[in-house]
Amino acid sequence: MASDHIDVLIVGAGLSGVGAACHLRRNCPDKTYAVLEARDAIGGTWDLFRYPGIRSDSDMFTLGYSFKPWTDPKAIADGDAIRRYVRETAREYGVEEHIRFRHRVLRAEWDSATARWTVHAHRDDTGEDVVLTCAFLFACSGYYRYDAGYTPEFPGAERFAGELVHPQHWPEDLDHTGKRVVVIGSGATAVTLVPAMAERAAHVTMLQRSPTYVISLPSRDVVADALRRWLPAKAAYPVVRWKNVLLGTVNFQLSRRAPKLVRSLLLRAAKGRLPAGYDVDRHFSPRYDPWDQRLCVVPDGDLFHAVRAGRASVVTDTVDTFTERGVRLGSGEELPADIVVTATGLNLLALGGMTLAVDGVDVDLAQTVAYKGMMLSGVPNFAMTIGYTNASWTLKADLVATYVCRLLRHLDATGQQVVTPVAPGSGALVPLIDLKSGYVLRSVDALPKQGDRAPWRLHQNYARDVLLMKRGRLVDEGIRFSRATPAAAGARTADAPVA
Ligand SMILES: Cc1cc2nc3c(=O)[nH]c(=O)nc-3n(C[C@H](O)[C@H](O)[C@H](O)COP(=O)(O)OP(=O)(O)OC[C@H]3O[C@@H](n4cnc5c(N)ncnc54)[C@H](O)[C@@H]3O)c2cc1C
Repeated sequence: MASDHIDVLIVGAGLSGVGAACHLRRNCPDKTYAVLEARDAIGGTWDLFRYPGIRSDSDMFTLGYSFKPWTDPKAIADGDAIRRYVRETAREYGVEEHIRFRHRVLRAEWDSATARWTVHAHRDDTGEDVVLTCAFLFACSGYYRYDAGYTPEFPGAERFAGELVHPQHWPEDLDHTGKRVVVIGSGATAVTLVPAMAERAAHVTMLQRSPTYVISLPSRDVVADALRRWLPAKAAYPVVRWKNVLLGTVNFQLSRRAPKLVRSLLLRAAKGRLPAGYDVDRHFSPRYDPWDQRLCVVPDGDLFHAVRAGRASVVTDTVDTFTERGVRLGSGEELPADIVVTATGLNLLALGGMTLAVDGVDVDLAQTVAYKGMMLSGVPNFAMTIGYTNASWTLKADLVATYVCRLLRHLDATGQQVVTPVAPGSGALVPLIDLKSGYVLRSVDALPKQGDRAPWRLHQNYARDVLLMKRGRLVDEGIRFSRATPAAAGARTADAPVA
């Protein structure tokens, strides 16, 4: 059993964990840190997912780090390019040597008397249990289970004689050339897979229970291309980043304020890209308003092109049962298939499955209230990165890491050791994630809550958060700074608010 102490322990070496380490390096160079990563690679999501066509659906000027310009010509980038970018960043900032791979964090216990976390991890390569202590725990563990994607129970699935695949566990040797493929799902993964597989498959059918809003965006950013011709990357990058932030904000706000208008614009745009007489209402007209769930972006209209060319089709129906040869639908029709891909989503997992305890009392996440969307009421010296639901993840990840550095410097400057959010004394508590997507609704009850006003309310608004987190006051009614004290009280929860 190995044991050591570090100032900041980061959990996860994905986009957020690597970014957090770089921010520490830039803003708190005197702090020691380590990154514990369950897998044996950097990149998280962008290393795990290997299905055909894997790409971002955000532009990389906002999915990239604020401090490292995205210089690739493609604004909507392939998984490989994103993975390389994260690795390159880790190398540039010397993060690699601080990562301890194959360390899965299982539990962290806070002790107020020593103002330390004791963190328990397990190495799956050596079978060793590792115990470390740290002053600050920073969870950058993403938001979903890595070991299993979400697949609903499909009747008769065991009968199917072809290949049944989940995009999260793509078999390296799966060859879909000339095969009939059915992709079940209508989310970002399905709309990525369908045109990518249609390039070589005999035919690809996207089978969806209900439609999603699909919007075509150019894979290259013309403003970025123009600016990069005249300006160095470092100067062009923030301009394009802010341009995209503002466009995204306008799009989101307009969707919220004038959903009917945005809906009709989206449907009209889809109609223009599909063959004449295509049943757009049936296949591309969701029952919900734009941004009740994330919009699905298709670069340069690739999904629409595949449908237009007859290489792919969309079927809106339910799965009655799998058969030996394919999928029989609720309508009675049978879709023959050699390969069925269940692009049916993720299983949400808070804090990478690690459990927390404060002074001997287990923390029930559902009873905590998030502070500024990044700390938990009653949980000292702890932060977590959860990205925006309506904008690129990294915009928020950068702000959270910046804020953590500000907190650490404030503690040092004031001779204190402990920072603990407190729950609001009054007001409604609502779920932390406000999307109505299936994967959110399935798990939302187990997640922290948010309050109805600042600093406990998530506004999902980057410009506002920049003011709040980069410039805003560190001391407010939602947080308490203190010295380590042997007589410190136990965890406070949403049920036990502090005035
Ligand atoms: C297919 C797909 C496409 C996406 N596309 C976009 C997009 O275009 N734009 C966007 O904004 N967002 C997108 N997202 C969301 C995406 O997850 C984020 O953009 C971002 O990659 C999250 O980075 P992260 O580092 O926070 O989490 P992750 O990428 O999930 O990385 C978390 C890391 O933590 C490790 N970890 C987890 N638990 C533990 C533990 N207990 N102990 C040790 N290590 C642990 C994991 O192994 C992993 O390496 C996409 C998600 C998916 C699944």
